[in-house]
Amino acid sequence: MTLQQEIQRRRTFAIISHPDAGKTTLTEKLLLFGGAIHVAGAVKSNKIKKTATSDWMEIERQRGISVATSVMGFDYGNYKINILDTPGHQDFAEDTYRTLTAVDSVIVVVDIAKGVEAQTRKLMEVCRMRHTPVMIFVNKLDREGKDPFEILDELEEELKVAVRPLSWPIDMGERFKGVYNLYRNSLDLYQPSKQKVTESVHLDIQSPDLKKHIGEKLAEKLQSDVELISEVYPAFDCAEYLAGRLAPVFFGSALNNFGIKELLDCFVEIAPSPRAIQAEEREVNPYEESFSGFVFKIHANMDPNHRSCIAFVKVCSGRFERNVNYKHVRFNRMMKFSSPTAFMAQKKELLDEAYAGDIVGLPDNGNFKIGDTLTSGEELHFKGLPSFSPEMFKYIENADPMKAKQLQRGVEQLMDEGVAQLFVNQFNGRKIIGTVGQLQFEVIQYRLLHEYGAQCRWEPVNLYKACWIESDDLAQLEDFKRRKYQYMAKDKEGRDVFLAESNYLLMMAQQDFKNIRFHFSSEF
Ligand code: GDP
Repeated sequence: MTLQQEIQRRRTFAIISHPDAGKTTLTEKLLLFGGAIHVAGAVKSNKIKKTATSDWMEIERQRGISVATSVMGFDYGNYKINILDTPGHQDFAEDTYRTLTAVDSVIVVVDIAKGVEAQTRKLMEVCRMRHTPVMIFVNKLDREGKDPFEILDELEEELKVAVRPLSWPIDMGERFKGVYNLYRNSLDLYQPSKQKVTESVHLDIQSPDLKKHIGEKLAEKLQSDVELISEVYPAFDCAEYLAGRLAPVFFGSALNNFGIKELLDCFVEIAPSPRAIQAEEREVNPYEESFSGFVFKIHANMDPNHRSCIAFVKVCSGRFERNVNYKHVRFNRMMKFSSPTAFMAQKKELLDEAYAGDIVGLPDNGNFKIGDTLTSGEELHFKGLPSFSPEMFKYIENADPMKAKQLQRGVEQLMDEGVAQLFVNQFNGRKIIGTVGQLQFEVIQYRLLHEYGAQCRWEPVNLYKACWIESDDLAQLEDFKRRKYQYMAKDKEGRDVFLAESNYLLMMAQQDFKNIRFHFSSEF
């Protein structure tokens, strides 16, 4: 296969959902279709159980699972599929945001009964910001839920994206009969089965045979629904989907393996292959001969005695090869990798080559930071690995005076890994850790102790938000920093950050300093 063909056949995407909507179940069924696993139940959920938030063995175990399921690659027909797993627990949302920078498209799973939930809404904001093409799977049709038309309105309104159903459910719950596939004009009759693949019948929506399969009443209802859909929703426009403005919607039941094959078949056909990525210097085309890639995730190993990590590299262009010298741009140094790993469904494998769209795992002992670029030699920096304004803050203090160095090193490395964000208050020099959830403070404390032998103590700090500030009006910027000197901090790149104590104070600052831009993500 040529380089061009290899890259074109790749589909790299993430499945996102609010916990419990069915992401793990859907992932597993997709693997089943790809022949990557043979029995249901093989994929372990990597979500941290709500009841186990301070059960450390559990978290450590889960971290192990999440390495194994971080990226699941498999062939499906002529396509090479890479599913990037995202942690379901909201305290790890930052991890998910970064994973979204490494995918070319996204499948969103929504529970028919619950509709759009908080986590879905938040993750969708990131997709919108990046114009990521999104496909939606409405799950659990084997249960009672909201009216499908109502769900479509809700999706459109809450996710702020135009929608177009490509399949349509025939009743639901115990009366669920199946779906009509509007993309291929076929009727798929529901047979609950956790393992088997449903057969579908090609039937025009006007066919008189329709009622033989689902009865007269449901056939009429389906026909009138489909008519209504074609009146309300314009025909599916793939270009709009690829631009991230239109989300095709499918209905089914992941648990019962229903509606998944239709989703997958349509997905591989229309979802984008790797696309051009903007670097600071220029746009990088995936089909370029020379290799380039960036680190979007670093996973610390579970073995505390060997502080080794895996750096996850998204290949942006060309081909990556084992034992070939590549430039680590930040170090301005050539490096080669003798044991890169590929992620194939359940296992890691030694990798000889990978193509644009693939994810390569590089064993690392401290060489990489999130956002680092590797190239065949060119000086490139990939943009677009945003940090988001954290939502929880604590002062971090050293609890063991003998281990100050270890603490500093540990904190630095954990921040490079992207576990949380560090801000240094310019007024009192104290270090503030910002996270998106309480659990991260516990993770940091635990890992500092077990991996670095350092002890930290948390002290409360009353903060509402940290936001990055900039302005073309340097006089006003200086004035602002002078007046707010107690609330000014630097992030780890040395950028100015304003620490707002309350929403009110933030709004006042925005009002009083009109020439200053307040950013809630570090990418601006
Ligand atoms: P995740 O948190 O999004 O990964 O959700 P899971 O895949 O772990 O699913 C959460 C729960 O919903 C599990 O108990 C699943 O068995 C169940 N579930 C998933 N899909 C379906 C479905 O289609 N129908 C029904 N009735 N339950 C489902």
